[in-house]
Amino acid sequence: MSELREQLYRTPLKLSGYVSGRFTAPAGAEEIGVIDPATETRVATLLESFADEVDQAVRAARAAFDTGPWGRTTVAERQVALNAIHDAILDHADELAMLETINTGIPLTQTRGFHIPRAAQNFRFFGEYINQAGGEVFTQEPGLMSLVTYDPIGVCALIGPWNMPLGLTAMKIAGALAFGNTCVVKPSELTPLTVTRLFQIIEGLLPDGVMNLVNGRGQVTGTALVSHPDIDMVSFTGGTVTGAAILQSLAKGIKGSAMELGGKSANIVFADADFDQAIDAALMSSFMNNGQMCLAGSRIFVDRKISDRFIDSFSRRVKALKIGDPMVAGTEIGPMINQAQRERMERYAESGLGEGATLLAGGHRCANLNTGYFFEPTAMLAPGNDLAICQEEIFGPFAALQLFDDEDEVVAKANESDFGLVGYVWTDDLNRSMRVASGLRTGTVLVNTPIVRDLRTGFGGYKQSGLGREGAKGSQAMFTEMKTTIIAREPRKMPRMGMAAE
Ligand code: NDP
Repeated sequence: MSELREQLYRTPLKLSGYVSGRFTAPAGAEEIGVIDPATETRVATLLESFADEVDQAVRAARAAFDTGPWGRTTVAERQVALNAIHDAILDHADELAMLETINTGIPLTQTRGFHIPRAAQNFRFFGEYINQAGGEVFTQEPGLMSLVTYDPIGVCALIGPWNMPLGLTAMKIAGALAFGNTCVVKPSELTPLTVTRLFQIIEGLLPDGVMNLVNGRGQVTGTALVSHPDIDMVSFTGGTVTGAAILQSLAKGIKGSAMELGGKSANIVFADADFDQAIDAALMSSFMNNGQMCLAGSRIFVDRKISDRFIDSFSRRVKALKIGDPMVAGTEIGPMINQAQRERMERYAESGLGEGATLLAGGHRCANLNTGYFFEPTAMLAPGNDLAICQEEIFGPFAALQLFDDEDEVVAKANESDFGLVGYVWTDDLNRSMRVASGLRTGTVLVNTPIVRDLRTGFGGYKQSGLGREGAKGSQAMFTEMKTTIIAREPRKMPRMGMAAE
């Protein structure tokens, strides 16, 4: 067991909010236990931010935006600050990776190799991006010059999920700050460790009030934040139902939003694909991050011509996945985030079988792991696309396979979904890959590659997978107000009204 974990078990952390450059100590706050899902042991106690503290955090962000220095800093000054945050994250990378693993159950190899470097990279990327991000000028009209510029939007409420707490929240913070905004951040009450630690390690790097933190449950702290009249927008990553509730609340004040919501992404494997690559990617897309990924490609469509071989190989490898303590090197699957999420897996395993699917692997709690919220990585072959396991986001290590015979059929089935986040296509036929990519109704299409997030491009969803895009121009649109300024370059010809008086 790691030293850090033992230390947290002995002395759980006390977590609070951070308002106007100071950690808060709310008297009488509700105390919420934060659990290591691998051992069901408390590692922290969260002092919940109630409406009063949320109000103070929003006011601090408002004051820092309206009168503080942040909005008037030069690009070079903002870059220095963003790079300093990047460096601070990398200086604490090992500790942050361990905290993330202890809090989420995601294997340490993944938090160390991907989550934390990615969290840091967001700050470096947006620091560089603002140097180039410009507006537009139109001079075609004689005598006129039309300028399109992008002003900071103001106070941003940034709400993140529990499945990649620091990486996804860092992307929002970096984008918001880069474009000159101030923010109030709310992590999931299940996984507040790394985001709170980020506020500790960057203390003093930004003017007071630019970055504030509120901690607590979605229904309490989250609701108070999104309904606060002084926020200007909400950038939210989370479930579709929560996203819809937040949109309703924002409608009252006509506030802007960006919504990164759920997915049920199709992973289409044609018979001419590189078989080994397609199998490796199908495993990765279904089971990385313990399968708790918005962009999981776990609705796998297999060309009937290769189905026997694919199903045999896929099932054997799912059964061979190493489940266990996420802090141990070599572990491929850790626990589910909590008991509710494990029960959800059980319900889908039952519903799949009840609706006629064939169990290929898993389907139960792990018999040899009595402590911790472990569930066997599961694969089922579904007889049709209308089963709940093919339509609903399970958000756990659960792959639903289906067979197909031709291209039009599989594109139609892939699009038969309320979601539209990602589509994965595996084929050696370039023309086919282009046809399928253009036919898929998803925000991102990945051809012959597993998950890639390229910050230069936008990431987000069609349909119920969200509104807006994150990354480069998408984040610029999210965190700025577009302003048009039209300037006459010579006296304008116009009707001279009221000339009767002359
Ligand atoms: P939730 O929607 O349950 O929660 C997301 C965040 O919203 C949490 O911080 C939560 O707080 C907070 N919240 C909950 N209710 C409210 C409310 N009424 N007002 C304001 N905030 C609220 O999602 P999960 O955390 O369970 O994350 C899983 C979901 O996120 C999946 O559907 C997944 O697909 C999606 N996701 C999407 C991504 C994308 O890029 N499209 C990326 C990653 C995940 P608390 O947890 O404290 O209740």
